[in-house]
Amino acid sequence: QSQEVSQARIDYHVALQALHEHGTRMVCTGKMHTDRICRFDYLCYCSEAEEFVFFHSNTSVMLPNLGSRRFQPALLDLSSVEDHNTQYFNFLELPAAALKFMPKPVFVPDVTLIMNRFNPDNLMHVFHDDLLPAYYTMKQYSDLDDEARLVFMEGWGEGPHFDLYRLLSSKQPLLKEQLRNFGKLMCFTKSYVGLSKMTTWYQYGFVQPQGPKANILVSGNEIRQFAEDLMEKMNITRLEEAEKDGGSVEDEKEKKDEYIVVFSRSTTRLILNEAELIMALAQEFQMRVVTVSLEEQSFPSIVQVLSGASVLVSMHGAQLIASLFLPRGSTVVELFPFAVNSDQYTPYKTLASLPGMDLHYISWRNTQEENTVTHPDRPWEQGGIAHLEKEEQERILNSNDVPRHLCCRNPEWLFRIYQDTLVDIPSFLEVLKEGMKTKPGLKKSKPASTVHPGRVREAQCQTSVQTTNEAKLTVSWQIPWNLKYLKVREVKYEVWIQEQGENTYMPYILPQQNYTFSENIKPFTTYLVWVRCIFNKNLLGPFADVLTCRT
Ligand code: UDP
Repeated sequence: QSQEVSQARIDYHVALQALHEHGTRMVCTGKMHTDRICRFDYLCYCSEAEEFVFFHSNTSVMLPNLGSRRFQPALLDLSSVEDHNTQYFNFLELPAAALKFMPKPVFVPDVTLIMNRFNPDNLMHVFHDDLLPAYYTMKQYSDLDDEARLVFMEGWGEGPHFDLYRLLSSKQPLLKEQLRNFGKLMCFTKSYVGLSKMTTWYQYGFVQPQGPKANILVSGNEIRQFAEDLMEKMNITRLEEAEKDGGSVEDEKEKKDEYIVVFSRSTTRLILNEAELIMALAQEFQMRVVTVSLEEQSFPSIVQVLSGASVLVSMHGAQLIASLFLPRGSTVVELFPFAVNSDQYTPYKTLASLPGMDLHYISWRNTQEENTVTHPDRPWEQGGIAHLEKEEQERILNSNDVPRHLCCRNPEWLFRIYQDTLVDIPSFLEVLKEGMKTKPGLKKSKPASTVHPGRVREAQCQTSVQTTNEAKLTVSWQIPWNLKYLKVREVKYEVWIQEQGENTYMPYILPQQNYTFSENIKPFTTYLVWVRCIFNKNLLGPFADVLTCRT
């Protein structure tokens, strides 16, 4: 490993002198530790102490300069999971003069991204917490390019999905344990520490029960661009998709090429009658049904299959993250074991429902207790409950709905989520057929359909007093500047009129660019008027500067 980081590419003495003279320099973005990413020159790592080191000199820079607030609770989150106390990053400080007494540093010439993987054993976590955030952190900083070096500091081994992490750059990622190989003191010439959280859509329930993040900032567009890029790196080409929207009967030829994928799990949370389910699907939809599983196939070969599928059927579980490789317009069908409320465990539903993801989502839940197979005697992490008090075991066994709970060791949740399920075929097909009825037709995705209106221009008002209790207020404006370049199906304007000093306002939706209001308009009164444009019912523009109109 240490050979790979070639010392020849930087002048060792120049680097050493720079470190001595300038020390470490840090400039960060973000006001809080939870939204911070820092860029460093000459951040060092002492493998003996397992600590990062910041060397102070007369010209070192530390921005933000938090003083001891740097420990309240940390400088930043090393993983994309927000404010998790096992994922904090900080450094120790030393005067650059101390270098004289320390082992000779080894310099890492590559631009490096230093981060924690959150749970590299679990495919959902791999994509949601690590790959997508790392991918878009690298897009944010242009020197984190294909030659960038990733360093994973969480301390785990490679894990089963390391090949996926390798796709992020052409250089082999480094694990914390490997840093020892570089000697006692290594210094990263240029590095970024931390991950963007911009792409995450789910919180796992550490402080409140799990669910979609409160403020999702990613759309299907970014997820899909990431997926396409990854597929290219895996040498997968999506087979030209037949139109999968209408399901029109005439297109029998195209229909033949459509297929359903069942993503199967072979060790836990089984579908006990998978063969029967497959037969039923094939018969009902007159389509080929193929199974894939992580136990039997390489991940790229699974992605190849998913990339042309019309429907993906799977038990709830991390493998469902692979639905981000499904073609637009396809359907995700998620199965839930007995007593597990499908509305409360929605990482895959939320993904499928992101705007622009264009996936149709359907869930089915086993409601028949006789069709579930429990495993009370397994270890607790696989849902065993034998270690609990008899009464508690009884309570769990008698409950048919897991109450809301926090992550990650709730025994009732684990007990229920690790059940195997005999899928009741009639109820499953019923849910599927019902769900398919609301599948939207896939409009050829027009980027224009997500363009928002600009502000209306030259908004103005004119007033007149009719009688002692009647007045008129005429408001007019010009179209937003960008409208003349767009084909928009429906353009409307929203006008809000508020009497100065009142808390409420009257909203109006208008098709035209001016209007005279006379109802509820009083003489000798000041009104505040806001105007904005709306495209196609739901694309809202910004309000123009408020108008003050006195009758
Ligand atoms: N896994 C699998 N087959 C199985 C059980 C698990 O491929 O029979 C995979 C699963 O997709 C995930 C990892 O093993 O990537 C951990 O599974 P676990 O059940 O612990 O997590 P969950 O799927 O509930 O997120």
